[in-house]
Amino acid sequence: MLFQSTRGSKKRISNAEAIAYGLADDGGLFVPESFPEISLNTLLKLVNEPYYKRAAHIMSMFMDDFSYQELYECSKFAYNTRRLSGFCHNDVAPLHKTGDNTHFLELWHGPTCAFKDIALQIMPGLLTASMEKIGESKNVCILVATSGDTGKAALEGFRDINGTNIMVFYPREGVSEVQKLQMTSQGGENVNVVAVEGNFDDAQTGVKAIFSDDSLSAELNDSGYILSSANSINWGRLAPQIVYYISAYCDLIKAGEIKPGEKINFCVPTGNFGNILAAYYAERMGLPVNKLICASNQNDVLTQFINTGTYNRNRPFYTTVSPSMDILVSSNLERLLFDLSDKNGDAVASYMSALSAKGSYNVTGQVREELGRIFWSGHCTEEDTGKTIYETYSKSKYLIDTHTAVAYKVLDDYRKMTGDDGVSVVVSTASPFKFCEAVLDALGMPQEVDSVNLIDILHKVTGCAVPEPLEALKNEVPRFNSTVMVSEMKDAVVGFIKGR
Ligand SMILES: *Cc1c(COP(=O)(O)O)cnc(C)c1O
Repeated sequence: MLFQSTRGSKKRISNAEAIAYGLADDGGLFVPESFPEISLNTLLKLVNEPYYKRAAHIMSMFMDDFSYQELYECSKFAYNTRRLSGFCHNDVAPLHKTGDNTHFLELWHGPTCAFKDIALQIMPGLLTASMEKIGESKNVCILVATSGDTGKAALEGFRDINGTNIMVFYPREGVSEVQKLQMTSQGGENVNVVAVEGNFDDAQTGVKAIFSDDSLSAELNDSGYILSSANSINWGRLAPQIVYYISAYCDLIKAGEIKPGEKINFCVPTGNFGNILAAYYAERMGLPVNKLICASNQNDVLTQFINTGTYNRNRPFYTTVSPSMDILVSSNLERLLFDLSDKNGDAVASYMSALSAKGSYNVTGQVREELGRIFWSGHCTEEDTGKTIYETYSKSKYLIDTHTAVAYKVLDDYRKMTGDDGVSVVVSTASPFKFCEAVLDALGMPQEVDSVNLIDILHKVTGCAVPEPLEALKNEVPRFNSTVMVSEMKDAVVGFIKGR
């Protein structure tokens, strides 16, 4: 199967090239030329397979330049539940049922307790194999600017992977105490973590400047390195996310919750649109889906878009208790637009240039209709996020994090507005113990300042088990404590690479 750009270039590339290059020359994103079909028979066969075999099978349908055996090895390593700092749950991505035909798809049993682990545990393996396939023998240096979750997940994914190094920049004042300690205590021989004086945008700007510095890349090339990113627009991160939608469907069949072929809803807490796009790709492969429900927090730019056809980023930016969804430009939406417009790269290019020129664009006709047919969207206020955590815990003794709460509330609104009470899966993207402050607040508990202690308090208050990696954090000490100015980031990268 070949891949093409969303901006209309005629060039076709292989899966390995798409993973190794990340972004197309014309600025577009790589998408598969077509969608392989997953039949009911295949789904039924996968029902009795463990997660890693489901993953190998589903990815092999897109990645025909990898042998099944290669994908099997990659998946087996990534989703091994007995490996130190691997996944802590035997099913990798288990479902938790609450009373009302709702199943929470728990994607946070990985080493960093957020859903990004599912892709970032396997992407390094896919990337190094892809580099080898395209004849690239240099070492990769991964640079990441993070507002919290991605940095840690990327560090865990790339730690001690041969042929790679990873350097993460986080804003000194922009991450929680738990997130900071998770990163500064990171183990591994090929990792580096540096605080940047400033906010997330400053760190991101610094990383972008490094990527576009030609003399730097020539210098690094001479030292045997190329720079790359672990960004969520990389196909190597998207593909592994398709797997858990199909896997959840198999688990529902296995549990007797649905009949094979029965359509279900997925409700996804959405930021950059990567997670819900993977659900759409699963539907395009033939997974029986009724509605894809796109849940926004107070930054409801996507809800507005799905409901009106107008994407407008000229609006206030809110900092919320679900920070991983605080975003005004959802990069992966471009892939959806490409598909809904029957692969009209020119149309996509003009939406994107309108977005960068005036901050908005408008879709009409077929794209608008398809959008409304496939998706339903709503948003959740800060107050309702807390209320949903409280009510879910009171009614079902089930503790959910702020992002998951946004989705559950929006699913509830969907049900009330449409009367559809069919089987629905809420995608649960983080452990509640990652967002102790907001969760304790929602439960009406007094606060303390030290977030690491809050993990214990939340445990005592609820009796819920603390995920192992967060429990272990108590005994961790920071390894990395340097802080740089944005202007010093480039030197920090050079120093890191030259020191190896
Ligand atoms: C990244 C993230 C999201 C948003 O996912 P997208 O793929 O960017 O839409 C939601 N919840 C959590 C906890 C996340 O880390």
